[in-house]
Amino acid sequence: MPQEINQCPLCLSDKNSLFDQRQFREHQVVNCICENCGLVFQSPRMTADELDAFYAREYRQVYQGEEGPTKKDLFVQNGRADALMEILAQQQVTPTRYLDIGCSSGILLQRFRDHFGCEAIGIEPGDAYRNHAQKQGLTVYADISDLEDTEKPDFDLISMAHVLEHLPDPVGYLADMRKDYLTPSGWLLIEVPNLFSHDSFEIAHMTSFSAHSLGQVLDKAGFQIVVLKQHGHPRSRILPLYLTVLAKPREHGQVRFQVKPERNVALKRRFGLLWRRILQKLFPHKAWVPIK
Ligand SMILES: [Zn+2]
Repeated sequence: MPQEINQCPLCLSDKNSLFDQRQFREHQVVNCICENCGLVFQSPRMTADELDAFYAREYRQVYQGEEGPTKKDLFVQNGRADALMEILAQQQVTPTRYLDIGCSSGILLQRFRDHFGCEAIGIEPGDAYRNHAQKQGLTVYADISDLEDTEKPDFDLISMAHVLEHLPDPVGYLADMRKDYLTPSGWLLIEVPNLFSHDSFEIAHMTSFSAHSLGQVLDKAGFQIVVLKQHGHPRSRILPLYLTVLAKPREHGQVRFQVKPERNVALKRRFGLLWRRILQKLFPHKAWVPIK
């Protein structure tokens, strides 16, 4: 049975109201907005066990008759790797030990490993994607806990591309990454769908981030943002479908966090989706890049 989320995952307030309700395949997806800070999160939502079962079913559907990632997956992941590489280059980030959480078919992992000549380790729970990545000669574990016995935890770059929105406790997870896996001068690279342009309300998305709420989550987890980009790469040349952040652990340890609420979230989403529809009509080929 889906569980109600009584506390906002960011500010812990117990006051929230209905934000969006829709049907996603056979599931009812309900998103709430925190009345205190404006974070949008799914509630009620599947329990961890239910989510595991859901992923297993979805993966079977996706992989019926397929031995590896689809053409669309590879196109998107290659394009994403180009864009993320560019952000690192602009900031002169040169990792020596790199961890990619949710590494999927391993394209980003391989790209960074080959470009920087760094050690590169991936985490990927999906069997088919993990097998595909391992077949490319990449070191990939099913779960972060599998690292503990075999690998040192001191990574100077951790990436999470389209992962954070799937996690039940994004603040806690990022804080653990900072404390247990990232060096004090290391980098965190994150990409999530943008609530103000992307449909976002999928059954597996626990949180739907705006640039503001993503910044708040990082702040509470002890990170400071160095770069924040809103962009559509590689799916769109003009729609700001995604938010990409490069962040560092905050100096001088944990500063006391005080939430800065976001206002007019519903209005910003309505306007963002209206703007998207207009751009799609006016510039269909720029709005959605054809998949080659
Ligand atoms: Zn809140």
